[in-house]
Amino acid sequence: MNIILLGPPGAGKGTQAARLVDSRNMIQLSTGDMLREARTSGTEMGKIVADVMDKGNLVTDEIVIGLIREKLTSGTAAGGYIFDGFPRTLPQADALGELLAELGQSLDAVIELQVKDEVLVDRIVGRAEEARKAGQPVRADDNAESLKTRLMAYYKQTAPLIGYYYAKGKLTSVDGLASMDDVAASLEKVLG
Ligand code: AMP
Repeated sequence: MNIILLGPPGAGKGTQAARLVDSRNMIQLSTGDMLREARTSGTEMGKIVADVMDKGNLVTDEIVIGLIREKLTSGTAAGGYIFDGFPRTLPQADALGELLAELGQSLDAVIELQVKDEVLVDRIVGRAEEARKAGQPVRADDNAESLKTRLMAYYKQTAPLIGYYYAKGKLTSVDGLASMDDVAASLEKVLG
């Protein structure tokens, strides 16, 4: 099965993806993680995207589609792929559809994690606090200013994907405000 987890920053996409990796042997493809990795290893691309990411804006479609293409063409995913944080724009969604078709694969489900905006801010500020307390690095974009930009990017560029996948008959919406276990149970139900 290949699925997309869709939702604003802080909706719990990464947390739920990690659980599906454990429970279903799926492969998590997070473009955010790939981009952060590129920055840490100091690649040319990493340098180009650093400032854009820190401000909370989206990096170009060309870059993220390239990253996903590389992953999809370089291996097979036994339990399928979980797209986490990708696609985030309509051109990315089109590109993913084409890529999967090229590889003879398809998209099985798009699961939207619905969360209220007020909760997102608390969760993201909380995530930064926890990292700080645990002596772990805090994401440069987990601050109030970048969060505003990230939310705006979500509503302007990513939220239209909800309608896009609804029209394709792929969308299921899940209450992302429920406990982690309950959200996980809802996802398992969707995946069957
Ligand atoms: P995330 O870890 O998914 O919250 O992503 C962190 C940041 O990486 C985002 O705020 C964007 O700057 C960038 N990014 C991640 N995925 C994408 C994507 N699919 N398209 C454009 N930018 C992305």
